[in-house]
Amino acid sequence: MTSQAGRHFLQIPGPTNVPDQVLRAISAPTIDHRGPEFAALTTELLASLKPVFGTSGPVVVFPGSGTGAWEAALVNTLSTGDRVLHVETGHFATLWQQMAAGLGLYVDFLPGDWCHGASPEAIAERLAADSARTIKAVCVVHNETSTGVTSRVPEIRQAMDATGHPALLLVDTISSLGSIDYRHDEWGVDVTVAGSQKGLMLPPGLGFNAVSEKALAASRTARLRKSYWDWQPIIEANRRGFFPYTPATNLLYGLAEALRMLHDEGLPEVFARHDRHAAATRTAVRGWGLEVLCADDREHSSSLTAVLMPEGQDADKVREIILERFDMSLGAGLGKLAGRIFRIGHLGHLNDLTLAGTLAGVQMGLQLAGVRIDPGGLTAALDVLRAE
Ligand code: PLP
Repeated sequence: MTSQAGRHFLQIPGPTNVPDQVLRAISAPTIDHRGPEFAALTTELLASLKPVFGTSGPVVVFPGSGTGAWEAALVNTLSTGDRVLHVETGHFATLWQQMAAGLGLYVDFLPGDWCHGASPEAIAERLAADSARTIKAVCVVHNETSTGVTSRVPEIRQAMDATGHPALLLVDTISSLGSIDYRHDEWGVDVTVAGSQKGLMLPPGLGFNAVSEKALAASRTARLRKSYWDWQPIIEANRRGFFPYTPATNLLYGLAEALRMLHDEGLPEVFARHDRHAAATRTAVRGWGLEVLCADDREHSSSLTAVLMPEGQDADKVREIILERFDMSLGAGLGKLAGRIFRIGHLGHLNDLTLAGTLAGVQMGLQLAGVRIDPGGLTAALDVLRAE
């Protein structure tokens, strides 16, 4: 490591850089989680969390990772032997359907090429063919963190509605919530799954489920075994500002501060900032003469960009050089994309100059790795940042 001074650039697509204000909030003394001060904190927190999900319904907060929140979404709404439709958008969609199968659900896994989002037409086709209504839920990853592709959830909902099929819609927003426009109620999502460590600018450790009326009704008859993840006792205790177990008190302090920051900036402004940074990143990548993995212009992720390496070049070598020389972490290719892509995270607590530094580091790393690129890529990205 030649450059230890200054701040590490954590430009993976989550966990993201935690703002100093949030870190300071987390460091406050832990309080009695059964006392009145805590009840006031929870009540305010849950209220300011709802607009981030775009819901007026309950949002359940778990101490746990995003994977736990996936499990909570499934075990609260489904019963052993139910059929679920998952869509192969990438590595995380693959893991979620593996979990569903492991829990005793029958999984239909719609194949995908890891360059496109979930196809509304293909989902509708499967539902239309299911005349016995055996499919109980459609599970979609909104922003596939392994590929940098964002699925068109409103179109998926419309396509589902057009078939008249009653399946629930479960959506993973782990790397989109708080970064990319998302509307649980308006888009007719039944369970939205999220985590703390990406757009919400917190350390890892909290998982979330936003729950529709229909999902809540399904939870009353769902028979998959659950205990810790059971929504009912949590929603019940939350009404009085409490949790049925010891909550992650200090992460909740951090969440309160992060929500204040998001609301102060304004959610539309937060989404516009992410869109702009993503556009500047794509400009750099294309300016270098490299390819963005996402193959559909309607589906570019605003929270990360996956960069495809030219044939014969190792993406992990580039990441290794960038870490050693410039103290910057980039996301690795996951699953079948290992070594073929690297991922630039541009979500969370990020401004123009942090992005400019990130892209400068990537450009220099590519050059040091011997990848033939046009160095005009960085200048083109700076032009985008300067222009707006
Ligand atoms: N889903 C998506 C889209 C993710 O990006 C991740 C993690 O990066 C997960 C699920 C799993 O979340 P966690 O690692 O917090 O368990």
